[in-house]
This record gives sequence, structure tokens and C-alpha cells, in this order.
Amino acid sequence: MTSHETSLDPARHAHGTPRLDGPGLSGRVADVLVVGGGHAGVEATLAAARLGAHVVMVTFDADKVGEMSCNPAIGGLGKGQIVREIDALGGAMGRIADETGIQFRMLNTAKGAAVRAPRCQSDRHLYRAAATRAVLAQPGVELVEGGASGLLFDDADDGLRVVGVRLEDGRELRAPATILTTGTFLRAVMHTGEAQATGGRIGERSAEGLSGDVERLGLRLGRLKTGTPPRLDKRSVDLGAMEAQPGDAHPSPFSYLTDRARFPLQRQVPCHITYTTPKTHGIIADNVHRAPMYSGRIEGVGPRYCPSIEDKIMRFPDRERHQIFVEPEGLETDVLYINGISTSLPAEIQEAFVATVPGLENARFLRHGYAVEYDFVQPSQLSDTLALRSVPGLFLAGQINGTSGYEEAGGQGLIAGANAALWVQDRAPFVLRRHEAYLGVMVDDLIITNPSEPYRMFSSRAEYRLLLRQDNADRRLVRRAAEVGLVDAARLDAIDEKERAIAAARRLLERTRAQPENKSLVDLLRRPDASFDRVLERAPSETRAALGAVSGEVREAVEIDVKYEGYIERQRAEVERLARQETSEIPADLDYAVIEGLSTEAREKLARLAPRTLGAASRIEGVRPSDLALVGLELRKRAGAIG
Ligand SMILES: Cc1cc2nc3c(=O)[nH]c(=O)nc-3n(C[C@H](O)[C@H](O)[C@H](O)COP(=O)(O)OP(=O)(O)OC[C@H]3O[C@@H](n4cnc5c(N)ncnc54)[C@H](O)[C@@H]3O)c2cc1C
Repeated sequence: MTSHETSLDPARHAHGTPRLDGPGLSGRVADVLVVGGGHAGVEATLAAARLGAHVVMVTFDADKVGEMSCNPAIGGLGKGQIVREIDALGGAMGRIADETGIQFRMLNTAKGAAVRAPRCQSDRHLYRAAATRAVLAQPGVELVEGGASGLLFDDADDGLRVVGVRLEDGRELRAPATILTTGTFLRAVMHTGEAQATGGRIGERSAEGLSGDVERLGLRLGRLKTGTPPRLDKRSVDLGAMEAQPGDAHPSPFSYLTDRARFPLQRQVPCHITYTTPKTHGIIADNVHRAPMYSGRIEGVGPRYCPSIEDKIMRFPDRERHQIFVEPEGLETDVLYINGISTSLPAEIQEAFVATVPGLENARFLRHGYAVEYDFVQPSQLSDTLALRSVPGLFLAGQINGTSGYEEAGGQGLIAGANAALWVQDRAPFVLRRHEAYLGVMVDDLIITNPSEPYRMFSSRAEYRLLLRQDNADRRLVRRAAEVGLVDAARLDAIDEKERAIAAARRLLERTRAQPENKSLVDLLRRPDASFDRVLERAPSETRAALGAVSGEVREAVEIDVKYEGYIERQRAEVERLARQETSEIPADLDYAVIEGLSTEAREKLARLAPRTLGAASRIEGVRPSDLALVGLELRKRAGAIG
């Protein structure tokens, strides 16, 4: 029993009594049970509780809530946008990153606004502590330490439903909705060279019983792998022999709620860059047969976009060197995270090749790299609320759905948590579409395909990148969040106020003429090299005074709106054009076998993946426009429009 463990007595909490009678469930301890205290579990718990649900989070180790299993960094390309969206929807990841960040950088600043993305290096220990505080401070949440060893079932009239979990010590936790966020822990095996151990993370175990029950539900599982690099002792590393990489001089926070005047909160530190050498490559190539991936001992597929160092050497034999980022894990620790050399080679080979890297010649290993292989649930079995279509009451979020990354996990957690609470409360689901959010893109991608490698977000996955920018996540999502209750009225007031300020600044730019060209300031701002601040220099003094008081966020919004207006309008028109197709519903009982002319591949995939709309069907790989036209025709026939 830890200090976090509670009595499971709902009366102890102001918010604690389940709000609804719900399905008759004896021994019910919560409205929503969240299994796992990782990044998906944290956002799921908080989102469900913000909607008034009483939530019990159960996790192996209450001291590891919000643990960063791998790289102590948040954000990055495609991922930074997700963190901004989580924040706009009231989630915690952005605020925690701001509170614990020791280096902030805006990536892609030389490129267009659509692909800019924030990233920070966090202090791993502070991050975990802040995540735990966020969970414990949320009204309506209880944290229970324990391992879920199985699911509890109820044979209802409409089939088998999940009504909670059984813990290893025999306790049973019952709730109408359960969210599994167990990460890499399902039937997990860790590999370092020939050595194997069961466990989803170093020093932790595997969730064997749960895997069995998930399988008994008849769910299709797959196997994936991921890896982590060695951790080295800073005192044994020569950082002076490497290039220093500082953070931004004027860093921007992730969260719209962070006070920019007091930001950043932590001391900021640099990362360092070094490179592999021909000697490094020689040692790895000579020993690659000892890496479990190459010896055939690992059957799971790893992420192509985040390859191990042995993968890089074998795939790109002509490359003379590979970049290595040497990143501090925190302010008060000597642990260095060696980003870029994820490996599962034997310990002695890791030590030999690391010693060939400039600055790491005498490096002392604190932990060797390893790979972990685990089961995931094929996400095409989920609906757009992240509930399993075939098992009422069971939701899945995070790496269990075949994704990789804290941000992807946190985003799914928020969607699953919100929808689990709404489902228990018998309210309409909360679904974001592809043109509204990266989160909408991710969920849609997941439910129509089965990942063949861990799924991570890239900005290229979004077809409406100019609409889904990191700077406008609040303008896209705060109102949607307020409608359902994920954010409070103050947040809604703040976004209304921001929109008013943007409109007022824009009007002033339109009305003011710059001399001597006699052009409006908006016209000047449209020029490729113009910026809000440079245009202001051309304005008469009273306009300059009025616009000079405008906040940085409003300036940025006006500048991007004006500069990209044409493209943004075009993307909006495209969204509208596709909206009709997007929402054209496909009945669940549509028999694809009777539609003549469908390609065999389309017939098989449509039947198996059962897309809910023509839009979803159009994004299934192998479904061609001609197949879609035939399905559309069949739908119109059924609707009686065609005889
Ligand atoms: C070795 C390793 C390397 C990685 N490398 C990368 C990388 O390079 N890039 C990248 O983007 N991502 C990487 N990741 C993935 C990243 O850590 C995850 O994507 C992210 O943490 C997933 O969040 P999650 O909430 O789904 O799961 P996790 O953060 O893993 O959290 C799972 C939680 O569930 C708990 N749990 C599991 N089973 C049970 C049970 N039966 N009962 C109770 N509690 C349970 C665990 O204790 C844990 O708290 C790596 C992960 C690992 C383990």
C-alpha cells in the first residue's frame, strides 16, 4: 500500500458519487476505470473527471505516473501540434511540459507556418512529479496502486460487456466504462543482445493476464517493437568535444494558459551534438547478427522513422556518420540520454561502439540500450470514440493501439477519457474530424488501418495542414471543448477576447494606408518579406500606438491569417466539398459481397474495416475512386433515390 492508495470510498471525494445510476452494477467503485498511469492514462483520467465522472486510475506503480519511458522530450514535428491541441481541450501535457522544460525550441521556423512545431526537453523527474500532482489534484479522481490481471465480464442481452478489472491481489474494481492504457506492457519482452527478460520497461513487469483476457474477447492483436538508447554518466563524458545546441533565446510555451511573463520556469540548459565514426560503423556491422532484430529473435516490427543504430548502419551503408544528440535528463541529475543510438546489441558491443564516438571515449554506462517487443490491439476494431466496437464498456488509448510517442498517447487518452465519461452519462460522443485537429487525423487513421509499424504523427499525415497549425489550436478547439464541458467558461471568455482582438487589429490594418504607396497595411503585410512588426513601422503614430499594444499571440495570428489567406480559403473550400462525402453514412449491415464491380481488395477491406462514412472508406488503402463510386451508388439505391 502506498501513500497514494485510497480506500475506494466514493464518499471521500466531493465529486465522488457517481452522477448517474447507469447500468446496474453491484460493487461499482467508479464511473470510469483507467488502467495505466502513463501519458494516455493521465489525460484519460483528467478528461473523464473534467466531465464530472468519478474516475479510478489503477497503475502498477503509483510513483511512476507520467513516467517518460524513453526520451525526456515533449513535442516535435507533428507532435508539438498535438500537445497544443491537448492544451486547447483542457488537457495537462502542455502545462506539465512548460513547468518542467529545461530547453525549448520552435522547430521549422525557416519554413511555413503550417509545419512549425514546438519541442522541449523536460526534466524527467520534475515531469513525473508534476503529472502525479495533476492527477491527485483533480477532483473526482482516485489513484490505486496495483496490477490489473484480468477483465471482469458481464453477459448482457446485447453480448459480452466489460464491467471492470480484477487486480493481482484479488480485488475487483467495477465500473461501467474501462479504459486500457497499458502501453508496451502487454506480453512484453525486453531484449539486450542474447539476453531476454519479461517486462514493458526496464525494472518493471509485463501484463500477462490482461493480454490473455484481451485475446479471449476475440480481438485481433499484433506485435510491435521499440527501442531505447544507452544512458551515460555526464561526469565521464567530454561535452567540450561536441557542438553545443542551445534552446531558443525567447522560448514560447506549449500551453495557452502559461504566463509568458514568467516563462521559462526552469533554468535552461543546452544539448550537445556529436557523430558516429567509421570505427563505430565497423563494430556494429561486425556484430549485427547479435542484435535480436537481425538474429530473428524479435518478430515485432519497429518504427522505420526512428530506427536503431544497427538499422541505420545496415540500411545506409554509404553514410559516413550519423548525428547523435546528447541530452540531459534533468537539472539535478548526471544522467545523459544519448538520442540517435537506440540499440539492442549486447552490452559489451554497446560499450565498444560508444567508445568510438568523439566525446564518449571514456563514457560510463548507467543503463544499456534495449528493445521491447509487445502486443497491441489492431485499432481498426475501435470506433471514433476509441471504444471497441464489439465490446461495450471497453475503451483503448495509447501505445496499446499500435502508436508510439507520449503526445499520440496523451491525445488518445483525452479522446477516450472524454468519450468514456460521455458514454456513461448517456451523452453524445465527442469526435474531432480530420479538418479540425491532428487528433482527428490520428483517430481516423487508426480506425481505418492496422499499423504495420508503430504509428507516429507527422504533419504530412494531415491533408489540411494550413488549417491545423500549432498557433491556432485554441481558435480551432476551445469552443468545441467548452460545448462538451472539457474546459470552463473562463477559457471560453479568453478565446472570445482573443478573436475580438484579432478582428480589431485586422480592421485597423485594413483601414490604415501606408505612405507613399497609398496601400493598406494589410496589402503590405501580404508581401513575402513583410512581418507585422515591419509593417507597423510604416504606420502613422496613432495606429502604431494602438497596434503596438497588441499581444504577441494576436500579432502572430493576424500575420498568418493575412499571409496565407488564399491557401487557407482554398483548404476550407476543399473541406466543404468533401464534407458531403465525408458524412454520407454507410449502414453497418451493408453487404459488400452483393455490390458488383468492386475490386477484390476493396471488398475484403471494406467488409473487414466497416467504415462508417464514405469519407472514411475513401482513406482505406486499396479502395479506389471507382470502388467508392459503386458504394455511393449502392447507398443511393438503398435510399430509394435510384430504382
Ligand atoms: C523502451 C521504450 C522505448 C521507447 N522509445 C520511443 C521512441 O523512441 N520514440 C517515441 O516516440 N516513443 C518511444 N517509446 C514510447 C513511449 O514511451 C510511449 O509511446 C508512451 O509512453 C505511451 O504512453 P502510454 O500511456 O500508452 O503507455 P506507457 O507510458 O507505457 O504507460 C503504461 C502504463 O500502464 C501501466 N500498466 C501496464 N500494465 C498494467 C496493468 N496490467 N495493471 C496496471 N497498470 C499497468 C504501466 O505501469 C504504465 O504506467 C518507447 C517506449 C519504451 C518502453
